[in-house]
Amino acid sequence: MVSVSSFKPNANYPELCDKVTIDWDEKRGRFIKAIEDIPLGTVVCIEEGITVNVDSRCCYRCLKLLGNDGFVYCQSCEKFNEPSEIACGEFDSLGIFKLAAHLVFSYPFAEITNLVTSDEPEVPRGLSKTLSTKDVQSVYQLKPFLGIEDSFKTKIVQEAIVKIVKLLEADANWGRLEEPSRLITFTKALRIMTERCAKNAHTIYSIEQIEKKDEDVPIGTGLFPISSIFNHSCTPNVFGFFVRNTFIFVSRGVKSGEELVDSYGVTYNQHSLKQREEFLANVSGFKCHCDSCVEQKSLEDYLEKSFKDVDRSAREASSFLNISDYIDYMKPGVQDIENLISAFSQRRDAEVYSKNLFYWWKKFIQNANYRKIVYDPYLIRPYIEMVLLTWNNDVECTVDEKLSILTVAHRLLTNFYVGFHPISELIKKLFETSMNPIDENRNLETFRILKQRAEILWKRDEYI
Ligand SMILES: [Zn+2]
Ligand SMILES: [Zn+2]
Repeated sequence: MVSVSSFKPNANYPELCDKVTIDWDEKRGRFIKAIEDIPLGTVVCIEEGITVNVDSRCCYRCLKLLGNDGFVYCQSCEKFNEPSEIACGEFDSLGIFKLAAHLVFSYPFAEITNLVTSDEPEVPRGLSKTLSTKDVQSVYQLKPFLGIEDSFKTKIVQEAIVKIVKLLEADANWGRLEEPSRLITFTKALRIMTERCAKNAHTIYSIEQIEKKDEDVPIGTGLFPISSIFNHSCTPNVFGFFVRNTFIFVSRGVKSGEELVDSYGVTYNQHSLKQREEFLANVSGFKCHCDSCVEQKSLEDYLEKSFKDVDRSAREASSFLNISDYIDYMKPGVQDIENLISAFSQRRDAEVYSKNLFYWWKKFIQNANYRKIVYDPYLIRPYIEMVLLTWNNDVECTVDEKLSILTVAHRLLTNFYVGFHPISELIKKLFETSMNPIDENRNLETFRILKQRAEILWKRDEYI
C-alpha cells in the first residue's frame, strides 16, 4: 500500500483529496471539480487500482517486484482468491479478458452474483454521493465499450470461460453454484467487466520506464475507476504517475471551481494539433474539446521535424561542434533541439564536453520555455544533469548558481513526484546537507550514488 502523509482523503470519495468534489453535467458526464484553490504539488488522488501484471517479474496482483524465490504472487497477495491458473499465465493470451476476470474475483462474490438477477448496470446520469474503488459501483459507473460481443464469442474466449468455470468447482463461494448457473453468472459478470475495461483500462509503466523511454513491455495493466473520472485536456492542470499498482495525481495549480484535467498522453506544448487528434482518435477513441483543440491551436512550426533520425545524427556527429552547428541552424523552440541534446549526452565521449553540455542543458530548458513549458516535470532531467555537472565541479559557476540549480531540481521532484521519483531521496539529502559545510563527506557519498543512479536512468545501452 502506497501512502503519502500529506494526503487528506475526501469523506465521500476516499481516493480523492478533500479539496475536490465529483460533479456532473450533460456535456462532460462526471468530472472532478476543485472546491477551493489547490496549490501546485498537492496530492489530489491516490488510487490503488485493480491490476494484473504484464511483466512476469512483478507480483501478478500488486505489481511489486518479486525476489528470485518469488512465486507469481508476493507474500501479501498469496491469499488472494482466484484460480491460480489465471495468475500463472495459462490465460495470458486472453488480453483484456484476463484483467476482466481478475475484476470479477476482486469484488465480493455476493455483489457479482447479484448481476445475474439485476438489470444491466447503467452509467448514472447525475452524482453519486459516495464512491470508492472498493465499491463495485465504481466500475459500473464507467462508460462501457459496447462492441465487445463478437470477440466474446470467439472460440478461445468461450473455451477459456468453460475452463475457468470448471476450476471454480472447488471454490468456497463459486463452488456452491451448480455448474450451469455458475457458467451463466461468470459469463455475464465477465462481459460487464470487459466492456468497462475495454474503454477505461490503463497501461502501467513505472517512473523509471517513462524516464528511460523504455515503453515496450509495461509492468501491468489495470482498471482505476476513480482516476478514470479525470477528463483529458491538452493543457492539463494535474500530473499523474504510477507507483506499482497505485495511480497518484498531483495538482499543477488549480483554481477553485475549475475542473481537474489530466493529459492522456498528448499536450498542446509537446504535440501538434494533428498529432493530438490522431493519438486521441486511435488510442482513446474521442475528439478533444479542450480550448486549444476547439480553437484549432497548434504549435506546428515549433514541432516540425528537422532530422529524420535525431538519435543517429547525435551518434554520428563528428564532435560537439558539429551538434552546435545543427542547433544554430534550428529555429528556437523546435523540439528537435531538446531531442538532440538528450541524445548527444548519451554518447560515450560526451563527458569530454562537460562544459558545453552544461551550456546545452541550459539551452534545453530555454528552448522548452519557448513553447511555454515552464516549471514542468519534463524539465527534471535537464536540471538533474546540471546538478551533476555543477556538483562534480565540471563547470565553473558561483556557489549561488550551484545551489539554485539544486533547489529547483529539488522543488520539481517534490512538487511533481512527492518523493517517489527514483532520485528524489538523493536530491533531498543533497539539498538538506548542502547548507552545512561539516557534511562535506556525506555530500560526496550522496553525490556518488546520485551519479550512478542517473547514469542507469538516462543512459541507454547502445551508447555505452
Ligand atoms: Zn502482491
Ligand atoms: Zn485538446
